[in-house]
Amino acid sequence: MADCIFCQIVNKEIKADIVYQNDNFIAFTDINPQAPVHILIIPKKHYAVAEMPADLLAAVVPIAQLLATEKGVDNSGYRLLVNSGPDAGQEVEHVHWHFLAGKKLGPIA
Ligand code: 5GP
Ligand code: ZN
Repeated sequence: MADCIFCQIVNKEIKADIVYQNDNFIAFTDINPQAPVHILIIPKKHYAVAEMPADLLAAVVPIAQLLATEKGVDNSGYRLLVNSGPDAGQEVEHVHWHFLAGKKLGPIA
C-alpha cells in the first residue's frame, strides 16, 4: 500500500526506531509515546485488523513477551492492545499492536 505510513516504515522509506524484527513482523517505537515503553508491533504485510491470518495472530503474544523481557518489564507487566475503527481512535489502517509498559497504566477507556 503506497500511501500507508507503516508500509513505508517496513520498506524503509520512512525512518523508525526498529527494536525487533523477524520474517513476518517488525516492532518499532511509537513516534508519540503514551508510556515510557511504547512499541508498535506490525505485520510486514499490510492487513486491516479483521484480515489478519490466524497463524500470524498467534505470533503476536510471543513477540510481546520477548519485548517485555528485552525491556525489563516482564515482572512489572505490559498492556497489549489493538484499536479498530473510529470509536477506538484508530489512525493507521495497517493493523498494529500497541505494547505499553514502564509505568502504572490508567484505565483503558
Ligand atoms: P492507532 O491510533 O491507529 O491505534 O495508532 C497509531 C499509532 O501510530 C499512534 O500511536 C501514532 O503515534 C503512531 N504513529 C503514527 N505515525 C507514525 C510514524 O510515522 N512513526 C511512528 N514510529 N509511529 C507513528
Ligand atoms: Zn500498510
